[in-house]
Amino acid sequence: MQIVPYPHPALRWKSVPVTEINEYLRTTIRKMFDLMYEAKGIGLAANQVALPWRFFIINLTGDPAEVHEELVFINPEIVKRKGTVEDEEGCLSFPKFYGQVRRAEEIVVEAFDLQGQGFQMKLDDLPSRAIQHETDHLDGVLFTDRMSDELKLQYAPILQDFEATYRKQQELDLFPSDDVIKQELARLEAGPPRP
Ligand code: ZN
Repeated sequence: MQIVPYPHPALRWKSVPVTEINEYLRTTIRKMFDLMYEAKGIGLAANQVALPWRFFIINLTGDPAEVHEELVFINPEIVKRKGTVEDEEGCLSFPKFYGQVRRAEEIVVEAFDLQGQGFQMKLDDLPSRAIQHETDHLDGVLFTDRMSDELKLQYAPILQDFEATYRKQQELDLFPSDDVIKQELARLEAGPPRP
């Protein structure tokens, strides 16, 4: 498992709902937390590790020692948004790239935790921003899509650099072709691999 960079096709995949909370999912989530900490992130969505299921993880402290700050959002839905606020964002799929993004100021999110328990949270500030960013991932939406037209234009060369780097990695077989990746995502949609 690895965090995939833009423009890996998984990042544009619209995730399918999780239908079963099992050992495979728990193991996957543990691996994702480890990867997220290693990359110094605070949130990671399933499609950022090339998995097509609707869940993401968060630890806003980014500190592996703060285990009680770890949150898992399974089948999340943002059911309410209020106000707007702009702030800087980054993304583990765009290493070292940051930009201003306008988001709802306050949200209400509903999801299930790893015990299958439904919960609801009303959030603002960083938690609100992080959860909007991660929920977008699950819909195949990236933070660059949410930037102003002016910023999109300004950052176009940076995105082209990400693209060129990724295509080079594909040529070196560090990633399969887009078609092969999409076939694998479609296959995984049916359910996790069985032993
Ligand atoms: Zn991201």
